[in-house]
Amino acid sequence: MRSLISLILFAAVCAAQVPISVTNVEGLITVDAIAGPLEFLSSDALEGRGVGSRGDRLARDYIASTLRLMGCTSALADGGFQQPVPIVGIRSSLDAPVTLSGPKGTLVARSPEEFTLWASRPDAQSVWREAEVVFIGYGIEAPEFQWDDYKGCDLAGKVALVMNNDPSSDPALFAGSTRLYYGRWSYKYEQSARRGAIGTIVIHTTPSAGYPFQVIQAGHGQEHFYLPFNDRTALPVQSWCSEDAAKALCTLGGFDLDTLRTAAETREFKPVPLGVRVSTTLNNTVRELASGNVVARWEGSDPELKQQHVVVSAHFDHLGIGTEKNGDAIYNGALDNASGCAAMLALARAITALPERPKRSIIFTSVTAEESGLLGSEYFATHPPVPVKSIVANYNIDGINIWGRTKDLAMVGYGKNSLTALAAEVAARRGRTFEADPEGDKGMFYRSDHFNFARVGVPCAYFKAGSDFFEDGEKRRRVKQAYTTFHYHQPSDQMDARWHLDGAVDDLRLMLECLLRTAQDPAVPSWTKGDEFEKAR
Ligand SMILES: [Zn+2]
Repeated sequence: MRSLISLILFAAVCAAQVPISVTNVEGLITVDAIAGPLEFLSSDALEGRGVGSRGDRLARDYIASTLRLMGCTSALADGGFQQPVPIVGIRSSLDAPVTLSGPKGTLVARSPEEFTLWASRPDAQSVWREAEVVFIGYGIEAPEFQWDDYKGCDLAGKVALVMNNDPSSDPALFAGSTRLYYGRWSYKYEQSARRGAIGTIVIHTTPSAGYPFQVIQAGHGQEHFYLPFNDRTALPVQSWCSEDAAKALCTLGGFDLDTLRTAAETREFKPVPLGVRVSTTLNNTVRELASGNVVARWEGSDPELKQQHVVVSAHFDHLGIGTEKNGDAIYNGALDNASGCAAMLALARAITALPERPKRSIIFTSVTAEESGLLGSEYFATHPPVPVKSIVANYNIDGINIWGRTKDLAMVGYGKNSLTALAAEVAARRGRTFEADPEGDKGMFYRSDHFNFARVGVPCAYFKAGSDFFEDGEKRRRVKQAYTTFHYHQPSDQMDARWHLDGAVDDLRLMLECLLRTAQDPAVPSWTKGDEFEKAR
């Protein structure tokens, strides 16, 4: 008898784990289902969806009303579909140049060629007055690697000089060439701010940044955006310098940059006061902007599991109207990320058409200000419309495959959590494969919105287009590469009739299956043991 009961129970458990069949709705994910919203969101009428602009408002209204039309309901206290996100914009101009003086002499640096600087706190003026410069190596404190570059050093009133990336001396440390958050410049700014620094200068090198100094120079004199101020972002001045400028700075104090950098590769490293003093003044214009995240909920069917959520995210913002290039000043951001919003709407269309609702609830969110520092997703994660513990997974979409059908797909953060194994299984069932973290060394994991979900412990998945094309492989790989080189963050990131959206259709159908299985499976996704985000859960 007992064994019969357990057999029945076992069968019931198995039935509970059988995913809703995707086959009857995946046909709704079509080229047109993606192309329609993509065409509208990336049109000139939306003026590049710059944060706080009219295009920002229009994009949100469009996405929110589309989700409402599909039958989604509100997840917000006010019963609406938009979570207001307050944003502060700061534009800095140099009032006095960067002047460095030490025992070996004085020099006046050129900006932005040698030093770029901007305020990251809403002060009318940011002043370094003969501030002491301290070299802090990689600026990392990581107990799990028994690594501490600070050794209790107090940076109050001082300016920190720091290397980008993480120590490369030992492949067993800091995940080898895969970049951890410790290697990101934003981490360096946060850490020195916590220790009272009045500014931090990151030493640029092309290998450690993944891009040339000109990319950073372009930010000088531009408006920078922040969430209303908290301790994490309260560093008065963020700065970068070129490698040559860093060498010159060290020389003024009688130090050799290469010797300092070698010392910073070991655990024994201690901060080095360089005997150099730095002065400069920034005048800042501060303004408040109104933006928001679209948030919509598709309630689950299971009385218990519907209290839990799977979040699908895709940022809607792009760069707005900017510097004119080839007669065009509208940065349409068609691939980045009108395409991701369109993809999210295509997924929502399929899910809301299922004959039976998934067990868990699904939240569709289109977040703001990704291009301004992942601000919308940070706001969502720190002011979650549903309890953060109820969010079991995040699927983020930032860019889709516009180059045609591929056998493979890529995943940023491959292996970091259990969503990888699920995706690999679903891919295999569909005769496809996953390519692990193609640009892990560039720290891609920390450069889109899923990162803010990871920071609060939510396992996340971020798929990218594959490169093993069924047709015209070599040519399409070239076109795909050229997109990054010529159109990424340019006015020419525009929708084009030559795009092959059949690739995105395949990828999204696969993603739909992953999403539904995550929404159905009673087991909660988890981080891989020892992962940097395991503790945040
Ligand atoms: Zn993007």
